[in-house]
Amino acid sequence: MGLIVQKYGGSSVADAEGMKRVAARIVATKRAGNQVVVVVSAMGDTTDELIDLANQITPIPQGRELDMLLTAGERISMALLAMAISNLGHEARSFTGSQAGVITDSAHGRARIIDVAPGRIREAISEGAIAIVAGFQGVSQDTKDITTLGRGGSDTTAVALAAALDADVCEIYTDVDGVFTADPRVVPSARKLKSVTYEEMLELAACGAKVLHLRCVEYARRYELPIHVRSSFSANEGTWVVKNQPEGDTMEQAIIAGIAHDKSEAKITIVGVPDRTGVAARIFQAIADSDINIDMIVQNVSAASTGLTDISFTLPKSEGANATATLKRIQGEVGFASIQYDDQIGKLSLIGAGMRSHPGVTANFFAALSEAGVNIEMISTSEIRISIICRAADLDRGVRAAHTAFDLDGEPGEAVVYGGTGR
Ligand code: ASP
Ligand code: MG
Repeated sequence: MGLIVQKYGGSSVADAEGMKRVAARIVATKRAGNQVVVVVSAMGDTTDELIDLANQITPIPQGRELDMLLTAGERISMALLAMAISNLGHEARSFTGSQAGVITDSAHGRARIIDVAPGRIREAISEGAIAIVAGFQGVSQDTKDITTLGRGGSDTTAVALAAALDADVCEIYTDVDGVFTADPRVVPSARKLKSVTYEEMLELAACGAKVLHLRCVEYARRYELPIHVRSSFSANEGTWVVKNQPEGDTMEQAIIAGIAHDKSEAKITIVGVPDRTGVAARIFQAIADSDINIDMIVQNVSAASTGLTDISFTLPKSEGANATATLKRIQGEVGFASIQYDDQIGKLSLIGAGMRSHPGVTANFFAALSEAGVNIEMISTSEIRISIICRAADLDRGVRAAHTAFDLDGEPGEAVVYGGTGR
């Protein structure tokens, strides 16, 4: 008995059958004596399809209107799910993000939640109803316009609501059985983790593991709210995301929690940069002023004879055009020779808290990559992570090689992908 927030992803409610299956699960949770708040995503690939549609109208839709369009996807889900629950004899009330009290800043497409005031949700559940909330959306405090939280943002809605309602647990239902040692779509031998720490999950999410939205993990950590990631297609126990791993959950010598990969980044190399104090600052100030988030940076040693160096950095592919235009604008002033843009890169990250106390992880990792014929182009590390950039075409092979090298392979058949198109 308690207050449970459940979030169902798009692949769990992809069609009418899925809606009914999920409704039955929700009703079972309610019948077990819990108060239930449900956050739901848009059906299947609806969000992608709406974006495609907008792009057929205009290459650069206005943020306000795009958000208005995309939030329609979650509205469809919430209403259908409420109907499916009511068919099973339980009262359900659907609410938009705005009605549920999700207050954000006004950054369209990547709004941040600044407050959650879930008065109407509390009222609904205290009257015995099941509350259904449209994920991924809120309302701007200043402009009162509808906003979205960024792709995959329904996870964040769920955790934010769970924290505001002081829920006992936030269950995130997806199309795989939990958090795996690697994406089961790429590594069929991936193993399910019983538990993973907030710290490791943050790195995994930041490095491209799509199973949880990064901000949702940040939120959960801040409020120490346990997340249970599990499948809506099976009754299996999933993965617990918690502060500290319970004794016995850690496999003997589990140095590595998991491997994440990311194909969404591109690399820009600025060639022939004068090697003088202040030049890098000028370049990255311009990038920051254009509101571009960068990831890895590498600067070469300048050849003594020329006094010129090359600087490479990675960034989201979606910011490629913006960044290139920004750099061209300052080319004359800074005096570099040229810009190269490369969007055929992949990023592979090895994550594990055990790295802190185990030497040799980098050596093993690089040996595995070299045996698999994967060339390393850039490297970056944190205390519990090593990331490399390689050719996009080599990425999946590199992930599988590293997975085997660190003994992460599990039993065949453990990693089941129940749904979703992987889009
Ligand atoms: N429907 C949104 C998306 O596809 C939000 C979500 O699924 O969490 O990104
Ligand atoms: Mg989705």
